[in-house]
Amino acid sequence: MSTIAEHLNMEFNGYQALKDVNLEIQKGEFIAILGPSGCGKTTLLRLLAGFLKPTAGRILMDGMVVADSNCMIEPNRRNIGMVFQSYALWPHMTVEQQVRFPMEYSRFSGFRTDRERKERAEELLKLVGMDGLKNRYPSELSGGQKQRVAIARALANEPGLLLMDEPLSNLDAELKIEMRREISRLHKEVGGTILYVTHDQSEALGMADRIVVMSQGRIQQIGTPREIFHKPANAFVAKFVGQSNLIRGQWEENSFICGKGERVDGTGIPESFHKDSLFPVKADHIHLVPAGRSRFTGKIREMEYQGFQMKVIMNMDDGNVVQVLVQPEMDCREGMEYGIAFG
Ligand code: ATP
Repeated sequence: MSTIAEHLNMEFNGYQALKDVNLEIQKGEFIAILGPSGCGKTTLLRLLAGFLKPTAGRILMDGMVVADSNCMIEPNRRNIGMVFQSYALWPHMTVEQQVRFPMEYSRFSGFRTDRERKERAEELLKLVGMDGLKNRYPSELSGGQKQRVAIARALANEPGLLLMDEPLSNLDAELKIEMRREISRLHKEVGGTILYVTHDQSEALGMADRIVVMSQGRIQQIGTPREIFHKPANAFVAKFVGQSNLIRGQWEENSFICGKGERVDGTGIPESFHKDSLFPVKADHIHLVPAGRSRFTGKIREMEYQGFQMKVIMNMDDGNVVQVLVQPEMDCREGMEYGIAFG
């Protein structure tokens, strides 16, 4: 199902939680909504699901208006599935019953007979690797198993749009990686449209076809993971997704100047960085050189050993603070003076 949000605004008692959000989701796409806590991710998801009515703007699903400031089609009349962070399983139902329930009660169910529903439940439980545990209750399952059931349940009626709200945030690091792979696999096998809300950059970069980066109720950038990571549109995206250094200095046309006249080629860096007098650069795109070989110099403030590499934080003489990645065996000590070279 294709979904379009047009000039969406959402206000709660005078607080503007979403500001002029425009988004087009193509059928079959995996879209991640990425942003820090409070940026409006869940609000956008709740608007798409039909739990909230927009203050202004409208939502279209397959070309039909499902919400604007006057009308709203209820969640159960939209062809959507939902997976929540908290799993939201029914405690009194077995695994199999959880998956069969939406097929029995949803108007979108194409599974009319008991036999069809049973077969569909079996197929889904196999797909998420839960077919051996179909008679268990939620209290007898681990977090990862519960999340698998929640995903199977959400897929039961082949929803046109699957909304997932931080589905992995209650799982431990190892299980998170496993479930991440699982969700990507499911997306490929089932081929549905997914909108996946997360504040975790690596989840968004690793899974999504396109990422929507949000901050303070506004979309900051929409792009493929590579575009978002390598060509951030503004300082927020560069910092939040790319974990870039934002070096303060002066722009002269396409050259950026920092320190005591160190000049860097800034061709292709978007205008928003020029306006803010900032230059984005990732920690692995700069290196330490002897102080005499750069006009951008400073002293080591601290070091963080990271196994394969070492992160060095530099207090630069012009007031910038810069992070550089170096070989872990490099002789670095606090207070040592170095220059920074770009590229
Ligand atoms: P998190 O990652 O912490 O879940 P989020 O990006 O999903 O954050 P939202 O839940 O969409 O953020 O909230 C966006 C803003 O709107 C927040 O400042 C929140 O306090 C506010 N907000 C959300 N729901 C309501 C409500 N019902 N009434 C008033 N303010 C609300």
